[in-house]
Amino acid sequence: MPRYKITYDKEKCIGAMTCVANSPDSWEYDGDRKVNLKGAVFNKETQKYELIIESNDDRFEKDMDAATGCPVDGVIKIERLDD
Ligand code: SF4
Repeated sequence: MPRYKITYDKEKCIGAMTCVANSPDSWEYDGDRKVNLKGAVFNKETQKYELIIESNDDRFEKDMDAATGCPVDGVIKIERLDD
């Protein structure tokens, strides 16, 4: 099953909440004008949050919508990982 990595750049997030509306199973308000990507791990090297997800996961399509709906370019990235 294809796996994807969601990368979230919290520093550049403006808290527009489109991601929460599109994919509430993955995104939640953090209480401080930004959001959390649920279950993501912070990568100290890149300073971004990362989460691996499979394409058959129920929230995959919604997460794609969250990425395309985010108004700030590059805040949410989804890339396919090699099998
Ligand atoms: S849609 Fe983008 S800018 Fe808005 S809260 Fe979500 S990640 Fe942040």
